[in-house]
Amino acid sequence: MDTREQRADRRSDKGEERRMYDVLVVGSANADLTVRVARRPGAGETVLGTDLVETAGGKGANQAAAAARIGGRTALLARVGGDAYGELLLAAQRMAGTDVTPVIVDEGARTGTAMIIVDPDGDNSIVVSPGANAALTPHDVTAAKDVIAASSVVSLQLEVPMETVRAAAATAEAAGTRVVLNPSPAPDTLDRELLAVADPLVVNEHEARQLSGRTGGTAADWASALREQGARSVVVTLGGDGALVLDASGTAAIPGVRVKAVDTTGAGDAFTGALATRLAAGATLPEAARFAVRVGAAAVTKPGAQPSYPTADDLAQLPE
Ligand code: ATP
Repeated sequence: MDTREQRADRRSDKGEERRMYDVLVVGSANADLTVRVARRPGAGETVLGTDLVETAGGKGANQAAAAARIGGRTALLARVGGDAYGELLLAAQRMAGTDVTPVIVDEGARTGTAMIIVDPDGDNSIVVSPGANAALTPHDVTAAKDVIAASSVVSLQLEVPMETVRAAAATAEAAGTRVVLNPSPAPDTLDRELLAVADPLVVNEHEARQLSGRTGGTAADWASALREQGARSVVVTLGGDGALVLDASGTAAIPGVRVKAVDTTGAGDAFTGALATRLAAGATLPEAARFAVRVGAAAVTKPGAQPSYPTADDLAQLPE
């Protein structure tokens, strides 16, 4: 049996044959149902809003769309319901270029939805109904183990049951598939087994602070703490200020790209999808993060999550 380090060494050997997929995302798919209002309602109150806007969302689906749009050979393992929203989500993935063969259409469940109310200040109230996402099980992961083994990188988030995330991480580890873990929404703590396979752990500042258990300090402090807790490498995203990378070769500060931010929804997912794609292509973590910062910046220049994700041509238009 190879050690994890031996498998990692083999992965980083540029001579390794390219696998069928660069990135397999295992995670959530939601229909985002958004209404804009003059004022968000209080208890017992009814307010009128704008027309309902339905877009494809969910952290898993967003990361897959970002990876595929930027040119990564991408597949998605998720569950949607046998309803119109499920069809909407599948259509959005196909348009982005994702292979949706592993997606399970669960006729007995409703597609996950996020009901989003946005006021004129851009503040929102969101209710998520997980629907079919809650039914993505470790059994589904086992059934997809050949797809996991055929992928260079597996990208995971925490909008599906934790035991499913653990199963995906363990299956990837056994197959020598690199795990990118974006622990969002952030739990109070993350178990050590999961942390130990994260290469990297991708966190925003809020998640970095919370998971590191530090109340004060800087992104570099939080990244060090998370690496001491077991993560093999850590990336902290810093909004308009770019990202901070910490791996075995040290710390790298990746500057942000100056753009006019229109809507930051889904920027973190754009970053993570792009990072995974670049790592699959053999980039070092700082190289991959530099690319992902540009993809995240491009995503904030347009409204929405998935509709804002750039292609390689879009990225070329971005200032250096
Ligand atoms: P979100 O929750 O909005 O999806 P996040 O909190 O997970 O995002 P951020 O650190 O805010 O993650 O942003 C992720 C990446 O998106 C950043 O590393 C950067 O590349 C890009 N980005 C975000 N905001 C801006 C901005 N104002 N200007 C330029 N790039 C940005």
